[in-house]
Amino acid sequence: MAGVFGAFCKNGHSVLEDVYLGLYALQHRGQESAGIAWNSNEGGEVNSVKGMGLVHIALDQKYLAGLRANSAIGHVRYSAAGPSGLANVHPITANYSMGSVAVAHNGNITNAMGIRHMLESRGAIFQSTTDTETIIHLMAHQSHKPPLDALVDALRRLKGAYSLAVLLGNRLVAARDPWGFRPLVLGRREDTFYVASESCALDIVGASLVRDVKPGEIIVIDEAGIKSIRIPVEASRLYSCAFEYVYFARPDSVVDGKSVYEVRKTLGCKLSASAPCPTADIVTGMPDSGTIAAIGYAGCAGQRYEAAIVRNRFVGRTFIQPTQRVRALGVKIKLNPIKKLVAGKELAVVDDSIVRGTTAERAISMIRQDGAARVHIRIASPPVRFPCYYGIDMLSCEELAAAKLDIDTLRATVGADSLHYLGIEDLVSSIGLPPSDICTACFSGEYLDGGEDNGVDL
Ligand code: SF4
Repeated sequence: MAGVFGAFCKNGHSVLEDVYLGLYALQHRGQESAGIAWNSNEGGEVNSVKGMGLVHIALDQKYLAGLRANSAIGHVRYSAAGPSGLANVHPITANYSMGSVAVAHNGNITNAMGIRHMLESRGAIFQSTTDTETIIHLMAHQSHKPPLDALVDALRRLKGAYSLAVLLGNRLVAARDPWGFRPLVLGRREDTFYVASESCALDIVGASLVRDVKPGEIIVIDEAGIKSIRIPVEASRLYSCAFEYVYFARPDSVVDGKSVYEVRKTLGCKLSASAPCPTADIVTGMPDSGTIAAIGYAGCAGQRYEAAIVRNRFVGRTFIQPTQRVRALGVKIKLNPIKKLVAGKELAVVDDSIVRGTTAERAISMIRQDGAARVHIRIASPPVRFPCYYGIDMLSCEELAAAKLDIDTLRATVGADSLHYLGIEDLVSSIGLPPSDICTACFSGEYLDGGEDNGVDL
């Protein structure tokens, strides 16, 4: 999972601080590393700074503020493809025979391994293990073409998920795969255009949301203005990621025209109808990602909502910590029930999802230790039973609690008195897009072209 941000200013003002701020707003999409690339106006070569950790640790704001560049892209990363390490930190950059290129990628290219093997057999030497580097090598193999044509040619060969911010020389390019897996938006503030993984990153730089980048669209921004072209691939249907609405995107973002906050509230409301808990004294949410669904649940059920579990704001999401040990520790140090609210009470606890089950198990145990009489778990999404091949780190069924266990065994494992999930139809109708536009593969197993695909047609 990752976040991308890019900016281009027509009147020459430096955009590096905007990109830094944009990445700051997208920190929830990746906490392992951060990087920014820009084009030096004089030499035309691409420059970058990259580092491990959170944005403010990985990047030196003071240093960036002292530089001038009127176009730049940035990236925050949690590794879905390729191990963590500086070589894999985005943007991936190159200076090749037709100019400079930098790519920041959110998603996962499902046929990247096949392309890589083919390119290596023709002599390509990869610098990283990211799927993203295949884009640059595909471009370099079309070095008789101008860079934009080479990029379009590279993209038409890819399968899977890619929302990109690209620098081609001084031009800013945004591209979204033909299936629309990951969000990508276009924004504007006066003479500066922005592309971002989520609209919340436009808010921080004072830009307005212009529109979503459409699935299969390439937007090119330069001194001449803005133009839109298509990736020459026909998608039979769209696959906008349902999990963005359930968990990943910030609630103050608008994804494909839908307010994430409103969708989460509706998820909770529908859950209260399909899985009521009339005996609960209070409804509470697992902070932060279950909170809005819990408010929706309590509101529609006419039950009392209390923020009975408090989250330490300075601890990152446990789901995106790299090891099981750190994940387990993370739950312990991150959540704390309010004893006075839970002691002797019957609780309906709403969470967004159960992935590994660690958070639910430890949280329920803590709530019980604080004297709760009964703990009912309500999940505002269907059981996650299948891996995601499109950029979210749910890569193996062994990691997924609902893939290994039936619901009653899972209920007993996490220690709940009852456990109910939202149905897929309710998930889809809560998002409000046509069902044929939404990816639900990790819930249903219905993947684009059957899932992983290393076929390559070059
Ligand atoms: S498989 Fe799940 S997480 Fe992956 S893109 Fe589809 S809905 Fe999103």
